[in-house]
Amino acid sequence: MSQIDEFFLIEKYFKNIGSKFLSKKNFILGSGDDSAVFKSTNNLCYSVDQNYEGIHFPKSLPPEFIATRSVLRSFSDISAMGARPLWFSVALACDLDEKFINDFSRGLNKVSNLLRVPLIGGDLIKTSQKSVTVSVSGETKKNSHLSRSGAKHNQNIYLTGELGLARKGLEEIKENCNKNIYRKKNVKRFIFPKLRLEISNSISQFASSCIDVSDGFIADLEKILIPSNQGAVINLDKIPRIDKSSLEDFTFGDDLELIFTADKKYHKKITKLSDNSGINISLLGQTKKNSRIKYLLNNDEVLFPRKKGWNHGKK
Ligand code: ADP
Ligand code: MG
Repeated sequence: MSQIDEFFLIEKYFKNIGSKFLSKKNFILGSGDDSAVFKSTNNLCYSVDQNYEGIHFPKSLPPEFIATRSVLRSFSDISAMGARPLWFSVALACDLDEKFINDFSRGLNKVSNLLRVPLIGGDLIKTSQKSVTVSVSGETKKNSHLSRSGAKHNQNIYLTGELGLARKGLEEIKENCNKNIYRKKNVKRFIFPKLRLEISNSISQFASSCIDVSDGFIADLEKILIPSNQGAVINLDKIPRIDKSSLEDFTFGDDLELIFTADKKYHKKITKLSDNSGINISLLGQTKKNSRIKYLLNNDEVLFPRKKGWNHGKK
């Protein structure tokens, strides 16, 4: 039986539509990466993501935070390209209750002020199931965008921040309707994810690939290594994570931290970037061509099924 999952469906039915027109229309990258890239004086990146009640955010999430989570989640793809945010547009489906829209717009305002970007348009329809579709754009200097497929043999593999905070935060939101939980660190990481723009914009000068962790660390690392034709040895002990008693922090997405690869000669620069920004950047291992991906934990090899992580369509 064929495998019907998100990646399979995109690959088979959507990814190559019109790909022969890409370069003629000034695209450097089309579908398949964190965002598409247009050629310009500066290059322009574009990405869109949908957010559904009950799938991407719990029913109990206040409208302000539905907005902040949804828009920041989209801009995370712009950060993963090493780009600077330019604009966003928002298509909202909801019951058109004015209080909901008022609170939702407060969230949009917060992100707009934080990233200093305008809301350039959108759409509004009435439905019973809420959904938010956010288009975002960003710019990079000519040819300095970070794609998923650029990793080379014997390069260092890095991860920003810590894994598991957003997962814990989401659990806390689902368990507890008390308003005060929105001040807690884990919950904040879910409703107001950090985009690591300072780091991604700096490394765009020299890193060879980058992705944001949205489907799970293992699944997203493989989205760099497989298109780059690289294997790797990954020391999982080096990853700061919340729950040391399970492997869930490695396979659950939503943290929106960045995984990136760079030549070893840049290690000092990266350490300095981490010191200056106060953001942890962990060295996890190295890429190896003609080899598989080997995960080590407490000196033992851990086997993860391929594409372990969030995948729409997979049970
Ligand atoms: P991310 O998690 O970074 O938002 P996705 O997993 O949603 O990325 O998508 C992976 C890639 O597949 C992206 O480049 C996206 O543009 C592309 N893609 C997803 N759905 C479609 C579609 N319906 N048509 C064309 N490309 C698609
Ligand atoms: Mg992404």
